[in-house]
Amino acid sequence: MSLLAGKKVVVMGVANKRSIAWGCAKALQEQGAEVIYTYQNDRMAKQLEKLVGTEAFKVQCDVASDESIAACFANIGAYAGEIHGVVHAVAYANKEDLSGSVVDIAREGYALAQDISSYSLIAVTRYAKNILAKNSGIVTMSYLGSQRAVPNYNMMGIAKAALEASVRYLAAELSPEGIRVNGISAGAIKTLAVTGVKDYQKLIQLSEERTPDNVGVTIEEVGNTCAFLISPASSGIIGEIIFVDKGVHLS
Ligand code: NAD
Repeated sequence: MSLLAGKKVVVMGVANKRSIAWGCAKALQEQGAEVIYTYQNDRMAKQLEKLVGTEAFKVQCDVASDESIAACFANIGAYAGEIHGVVHAVAYANKEDLSGSVVDIAREGYALAQDISSYSLIAVTRYAKNILAKNSGIVTMSYLGSQRAVPNYNMMGIAKAALEASVRYLAAELSPEGIRVNGISAGAIKTLAVTGVKDYQKLIQLSEERTPDNVGVTIEEVGNTCAFLISPASSGIIGEIIFVDKGVHLS
């Protein structure tokens, strides 16, 4: 069964083949969607081209800039007309705010992490909304550290809590327009972003040990849930954060 045949979905945040966004892109394609990619900068553009070749439609989008987001979705609109989904898989915090003490987080570091990792969902939704079709979906990526004090996750946990609240508010506001907003709380996976967290190996080890088979969740598993959440098959799910962590959050 193809859940997304003939649909066009924007995927933000592919840095390399380990990226959660890449797992999402693969699953969306398996379900028949055309994937449109956004990338942060020239360095990411090169990585992306290695993965997807020259054919796929790609646009630069630095989520720190409203101008960049606006131009990106205007560009996508000119290319695609309508789109049927957006996957928001971007986050950033200064390394010093992913270790040590939360009480030492500086105002600038707090604002930066919130801006890139949480506010960006609101800004992206604002511009994407103009070209999103009825019955479309927006999905973002969170982590258990939004609810629990996970060692060293610190600033990102605080930003993820705001991100999850944003999902609920955006979902309530946009569901009458046929746009469903949801999030996935993924288990720890070794990606570029996670290596910014001090002792990230422990985080990953913990996420493996608590699974039924000691194997951590994969980007493909996260991707499959993402494709489902973007598709009309999940029409009853609105403003939800779904754990895709092989049960790690249970203990
Ligand atoms: P990743 O490093 O592969 O992806 C992070 C992406 O964020 C990169 O593509 C990077 O270019 C992008 N990004 C950062 N700043 C940006 C900016 N200013 N503008 C545009 N893009 C920007 O790592 P990942 O783990 O795949 O991260 C994807 C999402 O999944 C993040 O929100 C992350 O917090 C979340 N997440 C990760 C894990 C994990 O264990 N890896 C677990 C749960 C949630």
